[in-house]
Amino acid sequence: MKYILLVCDGMSDVRGKNEKTPLEFADTPNFDSIASLGINGIMDVVKKGVVPNSDTGHLSLLGYDLKKHYPGRGPLEALGAEMKLNEGDIAFRANIATVESDLTVVDRRAGRIKGDLSELEEAVNSIDIGMDFEFKHTVGHRGAFVLRGAGKIVSDTDPHKEGAKVLKSKGQKKASAAVNLFTKKCYEVLNELPMNRERDLPANMILLRGAGLYKEVPSFYEMHKLKGAVIATVALVRGVAYFTGMDILEVEGANGTEDTNIHGKFKTAVDALENYDFVLVNVKATDNFGHDGNFEGKVRMIQKIDGQLGILENALDDCIVAITADHSTPVSKGGHSADPVPICIAGNGIKSDRIGKFSEYDCAKGSLKRIKGIELMKILKKY
Ligand code: ZN
Ligand code: ZN
Repeated sequence: MKYILLVCDGMSDVRGKNEKTPLEFADTPNFDSIASLGINGIMDVVKKGVVPNSDTGHLSLLGYDLKKHYPGRGPLEALGAEMKLNEGDIAFRANIATVESDLTVVDRRAGRIKGDLSELEEAVNSIDIGMDFEFKHTVGHRGAFVLRGAGKIVSDTDPHKEGAKVLKSKGQKKASAAVNLFTKKCYEVLNELPMNRERDLPANMILLRGAGLYKEVPSFYEMHKLKGAVIATVALVRGVAYFTGMDILEVEGANGTEDTNIHGKFKTAVDALENYDFVLVNVKATDNFGHDGNFEGKVRMIQKIDGQLGILENALDDCIVAITADHSTPVSKGGHSADPVPICIAGNGIKSDRIGKFSEYDCAKGSLKRIKGIELMKILKKY
């Protein structure tokens, strides 16, 4: 059997002060049609009461036990930034920031710095701290930082607030000393950088957070005996793909925004079933609208996805299609929440449970009842 798992990032919502959720409010004939053909339920993606991020959400959906296999956010960010990791490396998420000479944080984002920062990246990577490391700038004020061969975990340096000093890293002696030396030298080197002369908020510090020790895990294929691929533009989801040894399929015009090429993503997923047993498609913008508290935008995006869902519906004779979200991102909250997400599974051989509408509240009445994210692969493989 072949499978397509469509993850509409953060699409799930709650009624809150709006009478309906965006999914209930939106006109979604194709979501509803697939729901009416299949079995439905709701899902605690990580577990009841736990707020998932895109990384923990996707890993759970792929059947990974977070307690055993979650490496922390840093390694997944670094992998998503196309950095290579080896066992024993520590990876962090990195913020380009502004500090005073006594290392008090003035701005955690260096005035929301953007553009080409290769000069800064090069300067950072030239610092000598007695251990191998690599810094990579990604977008805006963000980047990833890998300390090679540390062996054991050390703590973050990002104090997460302005007015506080850069934290001293603790933990494994040699590695934490190297990280602390990095903080010191980072300021000395970056503060003198020509690009900083004209900046009110000089980009003179790299703050490190989300520390995680990289350890290889069983690949998606080893876990499920399915050859898997991922279609996603979000770096963190791509990081999950690298982490689990799944191939990434590129789609022209896919960009993580409202204008993304949904048609191309769905078409690529269906075509990929020639070579793969399982394709995960992530569509991102629903989450962004949730974060922005933009109800209308989220409705618009859901309808946009719906407009292309016929491509997946037409493939139902040849594969199983599951549709869900990696977490809720309620517009009323402007962030992720622990609320369960709707899930629908349809395809050849699956008998309808007569739920006619794909939504958080309708799916709750379906025959799947309330499941956990980690159970999804097991349920899919039953068909
Ligand atoms: Zn997400
Ligand atoms: Zn989000």
